[in-house]
Amino acid sequence: MLFDQDRQRGRGIVRSMTGVEHSDVVVVGLGPAGSRAAAKAAGSGRRVIGLDRRREAGVPVQCAEFIPALLDQELDDLGHVTRQRVREMMTFVENETPDIKPNFPGRMIERAKFDAALAAAAGAAGADCRFGAVVDNIAPDGRVQLNDGTIIRANVIIGADGPRSRVGRALGQINRHVVETRQVTVPLITPNESTDIFLSADIVGGYGWLFPKGDNANLGVGVAPEAKGRLKPILEHLHSLLVTEGRVGKEILGHTGGPIPVGGMLDPIGNLGDVPVFLAGDAAGLANPVTGAGISAAVISGGLAGEAAAALLDGAVDACDEYVEELADLFEPALRRALKRRQELLTYYQTDAAPTPAALRRGWIAYDEYWAA
Ligand SMILES: Cc1cc2nc3c(=O)[nH]c(=O)nc-3n(C[C@H](O)[C@H](O)[C@H](O)COP(=O)(O)OP(=O)(O)OC[C@H]3O[C@@H](n4cnc5c(N)ncnc54)[C@H](O)[C@@H]3O)c2cc1C
Repeated sequence: MLFDQDRQRGRGIVRSMTGVEHSDVVVVGLGPAGSRAAAKAAGSGRRVIGLDRRREAGVPVQCAEFIPALLDQELDDLGHVTRQRVREMMTFVENETPDIKPNFPGRMIERAKFDAALAAAAGAAGADCRFGAVVDNIAPDGRVQLNDGTIIRANVIIGADGPRSRVGRALGQINRHVVETRQVTVPLITPNESTDIFLSADIVGGYGWLFPKGDNANLGVGVAPEAKGRLKPILEHLHSLLVTEGRVGKEILGHTGGPIPVGGMLDPIGNLGDVPVFLAGDAAGLANPVTGAGISAAVISGGLAGEAAAALLDGAVDACDEYVEELADLFEPALRRALKRRQELLTYYQTDAAPTPAALRRGWIAYDEYWAA
Protein backbone atom coordinates (compact mmCIF):
# COMPACT_ATOMS: atom_id res chain seq x y z
CA MET A 1 0.00 0.00 0.00
CA LEU A 2 2.72 2.44 0.92
CA PHE A 3 4.63 3.85 -1.96
CA ASP A 4 8.22 3.14 -2.78
CA GLN A 5 9.99 5.94 -0.97
CA ASP A 6 13.34 5.42 -2.64
CA ARG A 7 11.77 5.69 -6.06
CA GLN A 8 9.92 8.85 -5.02
CA ARG A 9 13.01 10.36 -3.47
CA GLY A 10 14.72 10.18 -6.80
CA ARG A 11 11.99 12.01 -8.65
CA GLY A 12 13.51 15.25 -9.77
CA ILE A 13 14.28 16.62 -6.32
CA VAL A 14 17.60 18.38 -6.55
CA ARG A 15 20.08 18.53 -3.67
CA SER A 16 22.78 21.10 -4.40
CA MET A 17 26.39 21.03 -3.22
CA THR A 18 25.44 23.57 -0.52
CA GLY A 19 23.06 21.09 1.15
CA VAL A 20 20.00 23.04 0.02
CA GLU A 21 17.30 20.99 -1.69
CA HIS A 22 15.25 22.52 -4.47
CA SER A 23 11.75 21.61 -5.45
CA ASP A 24 8.78 23.08 -7.30
CA VAL A 25 6.47 22.78 -4.31
CA VAL A 26 7.07 22.09 -0.64
CA VAL A 27 4.05 21.06 1.40
CA VAL A 28 4.42 21.50 5.17
CA GLY A 29 2.14 19.04 6.99
CA LEU A 30 0.81 15.77 5.61
CA GLY A 31 -2.58 15.61 7.27
CA PRO A 32 -5.64 15.53 5.00
CA ALA A 33 -4.98 19.03 3.61
CA GLY A 34 -1.28 18.50 2.95
CA SER A 35 -1.52 15.03 1.45
CA ARG A 36 -4.30 16.15 -0.83
CA ALA A 37 -2.30 19.21 -1.89
CA ALA A 38 0.80 17.08 -2.52
CA ALA A 39 -1.22 14.57 -4.58
CA LYS A 40 -2.75 17.25 -6.79
CA ALA A 41 0.48 19.18 -7.37
CA ALA A 42 2.50 16.02 -8.04
CA GLY A 43 -0.31 14.67 -10.25
CA SER A 44 0.15 17.78 -12.43
CA GLY A 45 3.77 16.77 -12.99
CA ARG A 46 5.35 19.03 -10.39
CA ARG A 47 8.26 18.07 -8.15
CA VAL A 48 6.78 18.00 -4.67
CA ILE A 49 8.33 17.47 -1.26
CA GLY A 50 5.86 16.82 1.57
CA LEU A 51 7.04 17.10 5.18
CA ASP A 52 5.45 15.96 8.41
CA ARG A 53 6.91 15.85 11.90
CA ARG A 54 4.89 12.75 12.74
CA ARG A 55 6.74 9.47 12.36
CA GLU A 56 3.66 7.87 10.85
CA ALA A 57 0.75 9.46 8.99
CA GLY A 58 -2.17 10.32 11.26
CA VAL A 59 -0.55 8.94 14.43
CA PRO A 60 -1.35 9.84 17.16
CA VAL A 61 -5.02 10.31 16.24
CA GLN A 62 -6.41 13.62 17.49
CA CYS A 63 -9.93 13.38 16.16
CA ALA A 64 -13.49 12.25 16.88
CA GLU A 65 -13.37 10.58 13.43
CA PHE A 66 -16.68 11.62 11.89
CA ILE A 67 -16.78 12.66 8.25
CA PRO A 68 -19.92 13.86 6.45
CA ALA A 69 -21.35 11.96 3.46
CA LEU A 70 -20.30 14.94 1.34
CA LEU A 71 -16.74 13.61 1.30
CA ASP A 72 -17.87 10.59 -0.73
CA GLN A 73 -18.04 12.98 -3.68
CA GLU A 74 -14.44 14.02 -3.15
CA LEU A 75 -12.68 10.75 -2.27
CA ASP A 76 -13.06 7.24 -3.66
CA ASP A 77 -12.81 4.08 -1.76
CA LEU A 78 -13.63 5.24 1.75
CA GLY A 79 -14.90 1.75 2.55
CA HIS A 80 -11.59 0.45 3.84
CA VAL A 81 -11.19 3.30 6.34
CA THR A 82 -14.80 3.20 7.54
CA ARG A 83 -15.62 1.80 10.99
CA GLN A 84 -19.35 2.30 10.65
CA ARG A 85 -22.03 4.41 9.01
CA VAL A 86 -23.87 7.25 10.72
CA ARG A 87 -27.46 8.02 9.76
CA GLU A 88 -28.72 10.65 12.22
CA MET A 89 -27.77 13.19 14.85
CA MET A 90 -29.23 13.17 18.34
CA THR A 91 -28.92 16.40 20.34
CA PHE A 92 -29.24 16.45 24.12
CA VAL A 93 -29.88 19.96 25.43
CA GLU A 94 -29.30 20.12 29.20
CA ASN A 95 -31.51 17.41 30.76
CA GLU A 96 -34.28 17.62 28.18
CA THR A 97 -35.52 14.78 25.97
CA PRO A 98 -33.11 14.49 23.01
CA ASP A 99 -34.02 15.87 19.59
CA ILE A 100 -33.38 13.66 16.58
CA LYS A 101 -32.22 14.97 13.24
CA PRO A 102 -32.96 11.96 11.05
CA ASN A 103 -31.02 12.82 7.95
CA PHE A 104 -27.42 13.43 9.01
CA PRO A 105 -25.41 10.87 7.05
CA GLY A 106 -21.71 10.23 7.31
CA ARG A 107 -19.04 7.76 8.30
CA MET A 108 -17.02 7.04 11.36
CA ILE A 109 -13.53 6.42 10.08
CA GLU A 110 -10.22 5.08 11.30
CA ARG A 111 -8.51 8.44 11.13
CA ALA A 112 -4.96 7.06 11.12
CA LYS A 113 -5.80 4.79 8.17
CA PHE A 114 -7.55 7.68 6.42
CA ASP A 115 -4.50 9.96 6.73
CA ALA A 116 -2.18 7.11 5.73
CA ALA A 117 -4.24 6.39 2.60
CA LEU A 118 -4.15 10.05 1.57
CA ALA A 119 -0.38 10.20 2.12
CA ALA A 120 0.02 6.99 0.11
CA ALA A 121 -2.04 8.50 -2.71
CA ALA A 122 0.24 11.56 -2.68
CA GLY A 123 3.26 9.27 -2.90
CA ALA A 124 1.68 7.29 -5.71
CA ALA A 125 1.13 10.56 -7.60
CA GLY A 126 4.86 11.22 -7.34
CA ALA A 127 5.24 13.37 -4.23
CA ASP A 128 8.26 12.76 -2.03
CA CYS A 129 6.46 12.40 1.32
CA ARG A 130 8.77 12.45 4.33
CA PHE A 131 7.62 11.60 7.84
CA GLY A 132 9.70 12.38 10.91
CA ALA A 133 10.60 15.64 9.13
CA VAL A 134 10.21 18.48 11.63
CA VAL A 135 10.04 21.98 10.18
CA ASP A 136 11.76 24.27 12.65
CA ASN A 137 11.59 27.54 10.84
CA ILE A 138 10.17 29.21 7.79
CA ALA A 139 12.52 32.05 6.95
CA PRO A 140 11.18 35.42 5.73
CA ASP A 141 12.69 34.64 2.30
CA GLY A 142 10.76 31.34 2.08
CA ARG A 143 13.54 28.91 3.02
CA VAL A 144 12.07 25.94 4.87
CA GLN A 145 14.42 24.72 7.59
CA LEU A 146 14.18 21.29 9.18
CA ASN A 147 15.49 20.39 12.61
CA ASP A 148 18.10 18.08 11.06
CA GLY A 149 19.67 21.05 9.27
CA THR A 150 18.09 20.38 5.87
CA ILE A 151 17.04 23.49 4.00
CA ILE A 152 14.44 23.33 1.25
CA ARG A 153 13.92 26.01 -1.31
CA ALA A 154 10.77 25.69 -3.35
CA ASN A 155 9.04 27.85 -5.92
CA VAL A 156 5.77 27.54 -3.99
CA ILE A 157 5.05 26.72 -0.35
CA ILE A 158 1.81 25.12 0.82
CA GLY A 159 1.16 25.47 4.54
CA ALA A 160 -1.01 22.56 5.67
CA ASP A 161 0.50 22.28 9.11
CA GLY A 162 -2.66 22.46 11.17
CA PRO A 163 -4.11 24.83 13.75
CA ARG A 164 -0.76 26.14 15.02
CA SER A 165 0.75 26.50 11.57
CA ARG A 166 4.34 27.71 11.36
CA VAL A 167 3.81 28.65 7.73
CA GLY A 168 0.78 30.72 8.71
CA ARG A 169 2.76 32.38 11.48
CA ALA A 170 5.53 33.29 9.03
CA LEU A 171 2.86 35.07 6.95
CA GLY A 172 1.26 36.70 10.01
CA GLN A 173 -1.86 34.55 9.57
CA ILE A 174 -2.46 33.02 13.00
CA ASN A 175 -5.46 31.13 14.40
CA ARG A 176 -6.04 33.33 17.44
CA HIS A 177 -9.23 31.62 18.61
CA VAL A 178 -9.27 27.93 19.39
CA VAL A 179 -11.38 25.43 21.27
CA GLU A 180 -9.52 23.06 23.58
CA THR A 181 -10.66 19.46 23.59
CA ARG A 182 -10.35 16.28 25.59
CA GLN A 183 -11.55 12.89 24.37
CA VAL A 184 -11.60 9.32 25.63
CA THR A 185 -12.47 6.14 23.78
CA VAL A 186 -14.84 3.93 25.74
CA PRO A 187 -16.70 0.66 25.16
CA LEU A 188 -20.10 1.24 23.54
CA ILE A 189 -22.68 -0.99 25.16
CA THR A 190 -25.58 -0.19 22.88
CA PRO A 191 -24.25 0.23 19.33
CA ASN A 192 -26.11 2.85 17.32
CA GLU A 193 -25.93 4.91 14.15
CA SER A 194 -26.17 8.44 15.51
CA THR A 195 -23.71 11.11 16.49
CA ASP A 196 -24.82 12.28 19.93
CA ILE A 197 -24.26 15.91 20.86
CA PHE A 198 -24.48 17.31 24.38
CA LEU A 199 -25.22 21.02 24.78
CA SER A 200 -25.10 22.66 28.16
CA ALA A 201 -24.44 26.09 29.61
CA ASP A 202 -21.66 24.39 31.61
CA ILE A 203 -19.77 23.58 28.41
CA VAL A 204 -18.61 27.11 27.67
CA GLY A 205 -17.96 27.82 23.99
CA GLY A 206 -18.20 24.17 22.95
CA TYR A 207 -20.12 20.92 23.38
CA GLY A 208 -19.83 17.26 24.26
CA TRP A 209 -19.98 14.35 21.81
CA LEU A 210 -20.40 10.59 21.73
CA PHE A 211 -19.57 9.19 18.31
CA PRO A 212 -20.05 5.44 17.76
CA LYS A 213 -17.36 3.17 16.32
CA GLY A 214 -18.94 -0.26 16.37
CA ASP A 215 -18.31 -1.66 19.82
CA ASN A 216 -16.60 1.43 21.15
CA ALA A 217 -17.09 5.18 20.90
CA ASN A 218 -15.28 8.49 21.04
CA LEU A 219 -16.55 10.55 23.95
CA GLY A 220 -15.24 14.08 24.12
CA VAL A 221 -15.73 17.68 25.11
CA GLY A 222 -14.50 20.97 23.67
CA VAL A 223 -14.52 24.30 25.47
CA ALA A 224 -13.24 27.85 25.08
CA PRO A 225 -9.64 28.17 26.38
CA GLU A 226 -10.79 30.17 29.45
CA ALA A 227 -12.67 27.05 30.58
CA LYS A 228 -9.85 24.61 29.82
CA GLY A 229 -9.44 23.78 33.50
CA ARG A 230 -13.02 22.44 33.49
CA LEU A 231 -12.47 20.01 30.60
CA LYS A 232 -11.49 17.03 32.73
CA PRO A 233 -14.35 17.26 35.27
CA ILE A 234 -16.93 17.92 32.54
CA LEU A 235 -15.77 14.89 30.57
CA GLU A 236 -15.68 12.71 33.68
CA HIS A 237 -19.20 13.82 34.60
CA LEU A 238 -20.52 13.07 31.11
CA HIS A 239 -18.78 9.72 31.11
CA SER A 240 -20.23 8.68 34.48
CA LEU A 241 -23.73 9.78 33.40
CA LEU A 242 -23.53 7.60 30.29
CA VAL A 243 -22.16 4.71 32.37
CA THR A 244 -25.12 5.07 34.76
CA GLU A 245 -27.50 5.06 31.78
CA GLY A 246 -25.88 1.82 30.61
CA ARG A 247 -24.82 3.31 27.29
CA VAL A 248 -21.05 3.05 27.65
CA GLY A 249 -18.56 1.11 29.74
CA LYS A 250 -16.34 2.51 32.50
CA GLU A 251 -13.11 1.41 30.92
CA ILE A 252 -11.03 4.03 29.14
CA LEU A 253 -9.45 2.58 26.00
CA GLY A 254 -7.62 5.71 24.84
CA HIS A 255 -7.15 9.43 25.38
CA THR A 256 -6.63 12.28 22.97
CA GLY A 257 -7.28 15.99 22.49
CA GLY A 258 -5.94 19.05 20.78
CA PRO A 259 -6.86 22.53 19.65
CA ILE A 260 -9.46 23.31 16.99
CA PRO A 261 -9.36 26.71 15.27
CA VAL A 262 -12.67 28.52 15.69
CA GLY A 263 -11.87 32.06 14.57
CA GLY A 264 -12.88 31.59 10.93
CA MET A 265 -11.01 31.87 7.68
CA LEU A 266 -7.59 33.53 7.54
CA ASP A 267 -6.09 35.11 4.43
CA PRO A 268 -5.00 31.90 2.66
CA ILE A 269 -2.36 33.38 0.39
CA GLY A 270 0.75 35.46 0.82
CA ASN A 271 4.42 35.74 -0.08
CA LEU A 272 7.64 35.03 1.74
CA GLY A 273 10.24 36.96 -0.22
CA ASP A 274 9.40 36.09 -3.79
CA VAL A 275 7.90 32.71 -2.87
CA PRO A 276 4.11 32.45 -3.14
CA VAL A 277 2.44 30.67 -0.22
CA PHE A 278 -0.94 28.96 0.05
CA LEU A 279 -2.53 27.96 3.35
CA ALA A 280 -5.02 25.07 3.48
CA GLY A 281 -7.15 23.22 6.04
CA ASP A 282 -6.82 24.19 9.69
CA ALA A 283 -3.81 26.34 8.82
CA ALA A 284 -6.24 28.52 6.85
CA GLY A 285 -8.79 28.52 9.70
CA LEU A 286 -11.33 26.43 7.80
CA ALA A 287 -12.65 24.25 10.66
CA ASN A 288 -16.24 25.07 11.52
CA PRO A 289 -16.31 27.37 14.59
CA VAL A 290 -19.45 25.68 15.96
CA THR A 291 -18.99 21.99 15.17
CA GLY A 292 -15.19 21.92 15.03
CA ALA A 293 -15.42 19.74 11.92
CA GLY A 294 -12.51 20.36 9.58
CA ILE A 295 -11.65 17.17 7.72
CA SER A 296 -13.73 17.80 4.62
CA ALA A 297 -12.61 21.45 4.39
CA ALA A 298 -9.01 20.24 4.74
CA VAL A 299 -9.38 17.69 1.94
CA ILE A 300 -11.13 20.13 -0.39
CA SER A 301 -8.93 23.15 0.28
CA GLY A 302 -5.77 21.03 0.14
CA GLY A 303 -6.76 19.74 -3.29
CA LEU A 304 -7.46 23.27 -4.49
CA ALA A 305 -4.16 24.55 -3.10
CA GLY A 306 -2.23 21.79 -4.89
CA GLU A 307 -4.00 22.59 -8.15
CA ALA A 308 -3.46 26.33 -7.69
CA ALA A 309 0.25 25.81 -7.00
CA ALA A 310 0.64 23.75 -10.17
CA ALA A 311 -1.35 26.30 -12.21
CA LEU A 312 0.78 29.15 -10.87
CA LEU A 313 3.95 27.33 -11.86
CA ASP A 314 2.43 26.81 -15.29
CA GLY A 315 2.11 30.56 -15.63
CA ALA A 316 -1.50 31.18 -14.51
CA VAL A 317 -0.98 34.57 -12.90
CA ASP A 318 -4.48 34.63 -11.39
CA ALA A 319 -4.07 31.25 -9.62
CA CYS A 320 -3.69 32.86 -6.18
CA ASP A 321 -6.75 35.09 -6.54
CA GLU A 322 -8.77 32.18 -7.86
CA TYR A 323 -7.79 30.08 -4.85
CA VAL A 324 -8.98 32.84 -2.50
CA GLU A 325 -12.25 33.16 -4.41
CA GLU A 326 -12.88 29.41 -4.44
CA LEU A 327 -12.32 29.13 -0.70
CA ALA A 328 -14.56 32.11 -0.05
CA ASP A 329 -17.34 30.66 -2.24
CA LEU A 330 -17.11 27.22 -0.70
CA PHE A 331 -16.58 27.99 2.97
CA GLU A 332 -17.22 31.61 3.89
CA PRO A 333 -21.03 31.58 4.22
CA ALA A 334 -20.98 28.57 6.58
CA LEU A 335 -18.02 29.93 8.54
CA ARG A 336 -19.63 33.35 8.88
CA ARG A 337 -22.87 31.90 10.21
CA ALA A 338 -21.05 29.64 12.63
CA LEU A 339 -18.91 32.51 13.90
CA LYS A 340 -22.01 34.60 14.48
CA ARG A 341 -23.81 31.84 16.38
CA ARG A 342 -20.74 31.09 18.46
CA GLN A 343 -20.34 34.77 19.33
CA GLU A 344 -24.02 35.03 20.29
CA LEU A 345 -23.58 32.18 22.77
CA LEU A 346 -20.33 33.55 24.21
CA THR A 347 -22.01 36.92 24.80
CA TYR A 348 -24.25 35.31 27.43
CA TYR A 349 -21.26 34.50 29.59
CA GLN A 350 -20.05 38.10 29.46
CA THR A 351 -23.29 39.20 31.12
CA ASP A 352 -23.23 36.43 33.75
CA ALA A 353 -26.46 35.00 32.35
CA ALA A 354 -25.92 31.42 31.19
CA PRO A 355 -27.46 30.58 27.82
CA THR A 356 -30.94 29.09 28.02
CA PRO A 357 -31.86 25.84 26.23
CA ALA A 358 -33.43 27.96 23.49
CA ALA A 359 -30.19 29.89 23.05
CA LEU A 360 -28.19 26.64 22.96
CA ARG A 361 -30.48 25.33 20.22
CA ARG A 362 -30.03 28.49 18.17
CA GLY A 363 -26.32 27.87 18.42
CA TRP A 364 -26.38 24.33 17.05
CA ILE A 365 -26.58 23.15 13.43
CA ALA A 366 -29.34 20.56 14.02
CA TYR A 367 -31.96 23.26 14.64
CA ASP A 368 -33.88 25.46 12.21
CA GLU A 369 -33.17 28.43 14.50
CA TYR A 370 -29.48 28.06 13.70
CA TRP A 371 -30.18 28.47 9.99
CA ALA A 372 -32.69 31.31 10.43
CA ALA A 373 -31.68 34.89 9.66
C1 LIG B 1 -10.23 16.15 19.44
C2 LIG B 1 -10.59 16.55 18.04
C3 LIG B 1 -11.68 15.96 17.42
C4 LIG B 1 -11.99 16.30 16.09
N1 LIG B 1 -13.02 15.64 15.48
C5 LIG B 1 -13.32 15.90 14.19
C6 LIG B 1 -14.33 15.16 13.52
O1 LIG B 1 -14.93 14.24 14.07
N2 LIG B 1 -14.60 15.49 12.23
C7 LIG B 1 -13.94 16.51 11.58
O2 LIG B 1 -14.24 16.78 10.41
N3 LIG B 1 -12.97 17.21 12.19
C8 LIG B 1 -12.63 16.92 13.47
N4 LIG B 1 -11.61 17.60 14.09
C9 LIG B 1 -10.86 18.61 13.31
C10 LIG B 1 -9.95 17.93 12.31
O3 LIG B 1 -9.16 16.97 12.96
C11 LIG B 1 -9.07 18.96 11.61
O4 LIG B 1 -9.89 19.99 11.11
C12 LIG B 1 -8.28 18.34 10.45
O5 LIG B 1 -7.35 17.39 10.94
C13 LIG B 1 -7.54 19.41 9.67
O6 LIG B 1 -6.68 18.79 8.74
P1 LIG B 1 -5.32 19.52 8.30
O7 LIG B 1 -4.68 18.64 7.32
O8 LIG B 1 -5.61 20.92 7.98
O9 LIG B 1 -4.46 19.56 9.65
P2 LIG B 1 -3.88 18.37 10.53
O10 LIG B 1 -4.72 17.17 10.41
O11 LIG B 1 -3.69 18.97 11.90
O12 LIG B 1 -2.48 18.05 9.87
C14 LIG B 1 -1.40 18.94 10.04
C15 LIG B 1 -0.13 18.12 9.94
O13 LIG B 1 0.96 19.04 10.00
C16 LIG B 1 1.98 18.44 10.74
N5 LIG B 1 2.84 19.51 11.28
C17 LIG B 1 2.47 20.50 12.11
N6 LIG B 1 3.53 21.28 12.38
C18 LIG B 1 4.59 20.76 11.71
C19 LIG B 1 5.97 21.10 11.62
N7 LIG B 1 6.48 22.16 12.27
N8 LIG B 1 6.78 20.33 10.85
C20 LIG B 1 6.28 19.26 10.18
N9 LIG B 1 4.98 18.90 10.25
C21 LIG B 1 4.14 19.63 10.99
C22 LIG B 1 1.27 17.66 11.83
O14 LIG B 1 2.08 16.61 12.33
C23 LIG B 1 0.05 17.14 11.10
O15 LIG B 1 0.21 15.84 10.59
C24 LIG B 1 -11.24 17.27 15.40
C25 LIG B 1 -10.14 17.89 16.04
C26 LIG B 1 -9.81 17.52 17.34
C27 LIG B 1 -8.62 18.16 17.99
